[in-house]
Amino acid sequence: MGNGVKAEIIAVGTELLLGQISNTNAQWISEKLALHGVNIFHHSVIGDNYDRLTSLFSLAQDRSDLVIVTGGLGPTDDDLTREAASEILKKPIFEDQETMRNIESYYEQNGQSMSPNNRKQARIFEGADILKNDVGMAPGMAVQKDETLWIFLPGVPREMKAIMEQSGFPYIQNTFPNQSPIFSRMLRFIGIGESQLEHELRDLISAQQNPTIAPLASNGEVAIRLTAKAESETKAKELVQATEQQIYERVGDFVYGYDEDSIEETVFKLLKEKNLSISAAESLTGGQFVERLVTLEGASSVCNGGVVCYAKSVKENLLEVPKLIISHYGTVSEACAVSMAVNVAKKLESKIGISFTGVAGPDEVEGQSAGTVYIGLYVDGESPFAKRFYINGDRDMVRTRAVKKGYELLYHHLKQKNY
Ligand code: ATP
Ligand code: MG
Repeated sequence: MGNGVKAEIIAVGTELLLGQISNTNAQWISEKLALHGVNIFHHSVIGDNYDRLTSLFSLAQDRSDLVIVTGGLGPTDDDLTREAASEILKKPIFEDQETMRNIESYYEQNGQSMSPNNRKQARIFEGADILKNDVGMAPGMAVQKDETLWIFLPGVPREMKAIMEQSGFPYIQNTFPNQSPIFSRMLRFIGIGESQLEHELRDLISAQQNPTIAPLASNGEVAIRLTAKAESETKAKELVQATEQQIYERVGDFVYGYDEDSIEETVFKLLKEKNLSISAAESLTGGQFVERLVTLEGASSVCNGGVVCYAKSVKENLLEVPKLIISHYGTVSEACAVSMAVNVAKKLESKIGISFTGVAGPDEVEGQSAGTVYIGLYVDGESPFAKRFYINGDRDMVRTRAVKKGYELLYHHLKQKNY
């Protein structure tokens, strides 16, 4: 079938239309299918309504080679996907004994009694292949109608993903071999702005073809997505790697990670590698710096803890920032940030202390404008220092970006030194 598989995704559920949940299923499936070289031509969201379901299904049958439907396969009366599809695909439904046994044993294992309407979930189309569900009850189904392959999946994202990974994607690949695969890789940057990055790579970006080079910016970070298409995945990977190399030669110093990496994860790995412990004194960030580290598995090996020293009195009494520093320079100052970093490291017995003090806004503090932030860093055996930043944005943005700046500072510092 070559390059031309036309695919579409139909998400069924009134709560999607009401805006109560967003259609993350379609987004996830689309992203994965793109990597398999399948083109998605339509996303539809439709409510649990029999007539509208049948009319959309018949449209999909006419226009697509592959239709993926999520949701509406459940036990309740408003779950109509099966019935509507049965009419359009002219596939009668029957109760599959093996699926029924699986559902029953699922209930037994969980010590629950099964309500009769759950039998509904064992009902599958004649001629369908079952896509097993190891994390829930309702299985997925693959069924061919004329030239079109239909895949039905439960709406629950965790179940949908498990089924697709385990059997859905392989099934699609078997049915439509020879797709030109796509390989995509994200390069993640820190410490360089979007415009500077684009400037450095201007000629590459304007000459881009395969791979495509897409700069992205969000949450005070920039990234570049490289996407290549080729006859094989290996070839596509090679194309991406060649361009990646060129980018690396110019701005490699700012690359901290790839794909799903985050700056805190990268810093965490560096700390672990170098066997360093850290504590934080946080004023305007209110504990966010430590929170992000603690989210990571194994954080206790590097993070001793933190002090949220929001009020002046806490800086003075708990952290023992000298009163003179505060009266002379103020709490939003280099001297205060340095003292906070040193003292938190000593008090919490860490090799590294990092501190955040500043004005989250919207109002000024001690004559300093909103967005002024000092980040202090102390590493045992080195002289401490603090840097001043001006961060644009509302209160939330100032706080989150301050945390990110902290990770950035730490990252560059740790990378430079041989501990
Ligand atoms: P169940 O057996 O759980 O009833 P189902 O196949 O009937 O499964 P739905 O009832 O449509 O699926 O959805 C179950 C839950 O899955 C929804 O409440 C919602 O939280 C989530 N969900 C459904 N569709 C989507 C979607 N397109 N994107 C993200 N989440 C979804
Ligand atoms: Mg349901």
